[in-house]
Amino acid sequence: MVRITRNDQPAAIKQYEHIKPAPTLGPLRCFAPFPSEVYTCTLSKGHSGPHVAHAVGAVVVAVWDREEGDDALREALRLQTDSLWIGIRLLLGCAVVLVLAAVLNLFLAGSLLIGSAMAFGWFIAGRSLHPLDRPKAATGGPSLVILGFWLVLFVSAVILAWIRAGWRAGVGAILLGFWVLPQLFRRFWLSRFASQGIRYPPL
Ligand SMILES: [Zn+2]
Repeated sequence: MVRITRNDQPAAIKQYEHIKPAPTLGPLRCFAPFPSEVYTCTLSKGHSGPHVAHAVGAVVVAVWDREEGDDALREALRLQTDSLWIGIRLLLGCAVVLVLAAVLNLFLAGSLLIGSAMAFGWFIAGRSLHPLDRPKAATGGPSLVILGFWLVLFVSAVILAWIRAGWRAGVGAILLGFWVLPQLFRRFWLSRFASQGIRYPPL
C-alpha cells in the first residue's frame, strides 16, 4: 500500500523521483485525485504502476496506489469535460453559421438550418444507442415526428438559401444542415443522454 506525499515523507518519495510526468501537450493525463489531497495524477492516461503527482519542474509530490473506484471517477470527470467541450464546440458552430448567414443575408435560412440540425442530431443520437438505452421519445412515433420536423425545416432552409443566394448557398446549406451541424448536435445530445445515466457510446 503506497500513499505518500513529499511533505509527509520526503525520504520515501525519493525512490519515485525518476518518474517523469506526461507532457502537457502529449497524451491526455490520468488526473486521478489523491485521496483527500489536492494532487492529481500527472502521468499519461492508462499508465501502469501507482499514480504520481508532479509539481512545477517535474518534482514528484505524491505517489499512491491505483484503486478500484479510480476509473469510475475519472470516467465521470471525463464525461463532464467532454460534454463541456462538446457544448462549446456546438455553440461556436452555431455562432459561425449564424454570422455567416447574417453576412450573406440568409439569417432565416441559417436559423432554420440550426433548428433542423438540432432535430436531426437528436434523431441520429437516439438511433446510435442500443434500443433499450434510448430515451422513450427516441423510439416509435415521437421519433418520426422529430424526423418530419427536421425534414420540413431542412428543406425550407435549403430552398430559401438556394433562391436567395444561388446554388452554391443551397449546396452549402445541404452540407451544413445534413452533415456538419447534425454531427455537432449528435455529440451534444449523446452527452446529454449520458449525463442522465445512459451508457456512453464512442463519440
Ligand atoms: Zn494516474
